[in-house]
Amino acid sequence: MNFAPELISLLRGISKLVALTGAGVSQESGLRTFRDAQTGLWAQYKPEELASPEAFRRDPKLVWDWYAWRREAVKGVRPNPGHYALAEMAKRVPEFILITQNVDGLHHMAGNQRLIELHGNIQRVRCAECYTFTETWGDDTKSVPQCSVCGGILRPDVVWFGESLPRDQLEAAVEAARTCEVFFSIGTSGVVQPAASLAFAAHSRGAVVVEINAEPTPLTPEANFALQGKSGEILPRLVEAVWG
Ligand SMILES: [Zn+2]
Repeated sequence: MNFAPELISLLRGISKLVALTGAGVSQESGLRTFRDAQTGLWAQYKPEELASPEAFRRDPKLVWDWYAWRREAVKGVRPNPGHYALAEMAKRVPEFILITQNVDGLHHMAGNQRLIELHGNIQRVRCAECYTFTETWGDDTKSVPQCSVCGGILRPDVVWFGESLPRDQLEAAVEAARTCEVFFSIGTSGVVQPAASLAFAAHSRGAVVVEINAEPTPLTPEANFALQGKSGEILPRLVEAVWG
């Protein structure tokens, strides 16, 4: 793939870059989407019926077990070259901010320790009542483990249907989008709000928008550079072309 010389020279002199990633990046690691992953025992449930505060109130154990199963599925997945290319960019760009809609923790695994997680992280567990995070919990098979501080039940630290995004993460993402020079939208359909609006916010503030996605999206006509294909192929080549 040949990149536009304007893009290469722009990135060589960049001081602030923001990248937003979505499900497409995880799929390239072989992680199936929320919906496609419903197999076996879980095939009878729709994700919307499990990933909600109502479902958790109705049957906390069912929801807890589902997340335990999903955490196991993520264990078998590794970051792909796109994740590693983003970790490399973080080392090259003076101010690099990574925002993700993914909850799988693959960016952490690839070396991006500092990132904005708009939808939380499936690997983190917190109290449903007092918000205390916990690294360890008992393996009682009959009930949902309890918080050691207040006795409330534990839940995954992810954003469920009907819940609002963590305010601090969202504010940091909006601020980053509004003040960056270049905004990358990677592997995201550009339709899930409010993440989708970040690229437009960046664009309206004069940032150059680069989209990397397998298919065209609502953002494609607005993007300054639209690179169609796999992020795991495009990003490593781009990093090599700019900083190699
Ligand atoms: Zn608690």
